[in-house]
Amino acid sequence: MNRPAAYILDLDGVVYRGRTVIPGACESIDQLRSSGSRVVFLTNNATRTREAIARRLKDMGVPCSAGDVISSAYAASVYIKEKYGSSTIYPVGEQGLVEELERAGHTINRQDAEYVVVGLDREFTYEKLTLALDLLMNGAGFIATNTDAMLPTEHGFLPGAGSMVAAIQAASGVVPDVVGKPNKPIMDVLLMEYELKSEECVMVGDRLETDILAGIRAGMRTVLVLTGASGIEDIESSGIRPDTVLDSIADLE
Ligand SMILES: [Mg+2]
Repeated sequence: MNRPAAYILDLDGVVYRGRTVIPGACESIDQLRSSGSRVVFLTNNATRTREAIARRLKDMGVPCSAGDVISSAYAASVYIKEKYGSSTIYPVGEQGLVEELERAGHTINRQDAEYVVVGLDREFTYEKLTLALDLLMNGAGFIATNTDAMLPTEHGFLPGAGSMVAAIQAASGVVPDVVGKPNKPIMDVLLMEYELKSEECVMVGDRLETDILAGIRAGMRTVLVLTGASGIEDIESSGIRPDTVLDSIADLE
């Protein structure tokens, strides 16, 4: 088998867990790079910019630059740009989403917003829900960065972007266009960004329903690592079958 052109790594549960690097992850990433494969970090996280995500990885000892990171906020910004051109957007989300949208050339403006773009917003309110509803009722498009219902943290689970998306969907009856894993748009943005073909890529993830399904749908080879969300028993119950199962990213070669 040919050396993969790129390894696409999910972050939480693959490279680190919470604030702790998975043992052997740095060495493994080094080795993939020195054998000539590109390493791309792919996350549904829409609250931070690519720079902030890269900085966090560097602080953990993983050499990384913003150009190695694709987040659902970045992917949504590029996706909207490619599909609809520079647009006026009402974001329901945090500073990282706003910055990525602006950087892609979109205008942030609630009045006349053509699209409501939703990510995790830890200051989500009834007022924001009302504003989003009003825009959608007046014909704005509805784009979700991701629909992850929950986020794992060291202190248990927190509601994810999917919770906000569900609230807006319930109020408006409008079904969003979802960018993040397991959906195609984020994978299309990734392939375009690095000029990769899906068959040259290996998707490495800890969650069958997002990472592995995204890889399968994109036509990539898939590796499930058992350091995060999904266990080996979940393969049977979900029917989502990775090509390979490894204990950890440290076992990638
Ligand atoms: Mg994960």
